[in-house]
Amino acid sequence: MPGKTRQKDSTKRAPDNTLKAARKEYQCPHCGKRMNKWEVPPFNFSDGLGWCTDHLYICFNDECRFFTNSWGHMEEHFGQEMGYRCMIHPDSNEVGAIPAGSVDAMKGNILDEIQEAKDAESIARRNANMARLTEAFMNRDLPGIVAVLEQEEEWPSVRLKAAQLLGDLEDLAAIEPLMNIVPSHEPVKKAVEEAVKKIHKANFTRECPHCAEIIKQRAKLCKHCGKEV
Ligand SMILES: [Zn+2]
Ligand SMILES: [Zn+2]
Repeated sequence: MPGKTRQKDSTKRAPDNTLKAARKEYQCPHCGKRMNKWEVPPFNFSDGLGWCTDHLYICFNDECRFFTNSWGHMEEHFGQEMGYRCMIHPDSNEVGAIPAGSVDAMKGNILDEIQEAKDAESIARRNANMARLTEAFMNRDLPGIVAVLEQEEEWPSVRLKAAQLLGDLEDLAAIEPLMNIVPSHEPVKKAVEEAVKKIHKANFTRECPHCAEIIKQRAKLCKHCGKEV
């Protein structure tokens, strides 16, 4: 099934690509390593110079010669335990130096690592929810699947799967909850409509255009509202 594999891959890759596109990349002019986006703390350094930005790009490579050399220099001349890391200001692209009190100083403010940790967490949650969906499907647990489908903040791929599974169960009891979900995400909305169609087809039913109750496909009069259909 080569088609199926390809589809799986594209859904997996999509968020990564968007992420990369949104992320500006800076290379350290001294060591060539990718610099980290770093959140400027809410205070200025001693000389009172404001950065006029909420983030800077800093080379956190501990082997970077700019960092190691500055460290030696500071110790030698001032007997002071302090080094400098290479930084780039994102507006002016100006290359500068930022004082570092220790090897690990400032690392807590690295934004891309915080973001990557959040992304990893989100992907783990997505996989867990996918597994939960499969289990709910096996148990024909309609409310369990509907609950996932209702989550607007859930990954669209998970919600798409939930809608498909509800359709696959071909259970008329799913029609009402499906009709009450109005997803803002267009593909999920389509999947919900498809699921409703599929369930009606499997049960030889349709929706009464007057009262919205479920009626037989062949019915000429609605058994709920009595109107001609
Ligand atoms: Zn460097
Ligand atoms: Zn009716």
